[in-house]
Amino acid sequence: MNQTYRGRLAPSPTGYLHLGHARTFWAAQQRARAAGGELILRNEDLDSTRFKMEFVDSMLEDLRWFGFEWSEGPDVGGKYAPYNQSERMDVYRAALAKLQSGNFIYPCTCSRKDIQAAVTAPHAADDELIYPGTCRENRQSAIGNRKYSWRFRVPDGETVSFMDGNCGPQNFIAGKDFGDFIVWRGDGVPAYQLACVADDAAMHITEVVRGADLLVSTVRQILIYRALGWSVPDFFHCELMLDAKGERLAKRHDSLSLRQLREQGATPKKIRSDWSVGR
Ligand code: GLU
Repeated sequence: MNQTYRGRLAPSPTGYLHLGHARTFWAAQQRARAAGGELILRNEDLDSTRFKMEFVDSMLEDLRWFGFEWSEGPDVGGKYAPYNQSERMDVYRAALAKLQSGNFIYPCTCSRKDIQAAVTAPHAADDELIYPGTCRENRQSAIGNRKYSWRFRVPDGETVSFMDGNCGPQNFIAGKDFGDFIVWRGDGVPAYQLACVADDAAMHITEVVRGADLLVSTVRQILIYRALGWSVPDFFHCELMLDAKGERLAKRHDSLSLRQLREQGATPKKIRSDWSVGR
């Protein structure tokens, strides 16, 4: 028997939702509906330095206004509660411990500045620097009282591949297209890559629909699934929405926030029929 489709919306409350989010989320909802499956809402509120409480309520309100409907979420509960990441630290600690015991990660004392200084190769402006491997041989016991993060050791030279439901075959070379990445930050907060995998697995997500800016994150996450021995969901990456200058929409584009559009009298139906706004 086929597994029931389970998709998710995973917004971070770091600002008002904009058209780009709405379009990706809409694709997620359409795919869940077409498959006769479930759609869950997960509030990705781990990074307390970036998110603001006031955005959580507005996020839920904007999503509902737009026509999103979820059967599990922070406001409605569900089988895999809690749905706020800030309440799921145990899940992330367990995943971290498993990565530690399998020796997939190492403690890293480098600051962003250290890495910048050590890296000479060009890198995608958008993505993180390729980590030069300075701390790969570190032992936790030898670190003393210095602050450290946990980094995932990627299999250098290996092509990590997956078939994307929208963008087709994807191949990224470990150590070249992306390097060792942080799974747990020096300030004690789990990194997005780890939290996302731990939650998508725990919540039995069968397909992840997200923006194409996260393709390289997806391959990092595939390595985490592999290390943890968990089955990998399907992926569907949506094209990004661009503004009039051809730049990616970000939360700072307030004029394209759902909130503003709504105040200006736009309706969700009209917005959907104008998806090309700003292109
Ligand atoms: N909270 C992440 C974001 O808003 C989720 C990305 C994802 O995994 O879909 O960028």
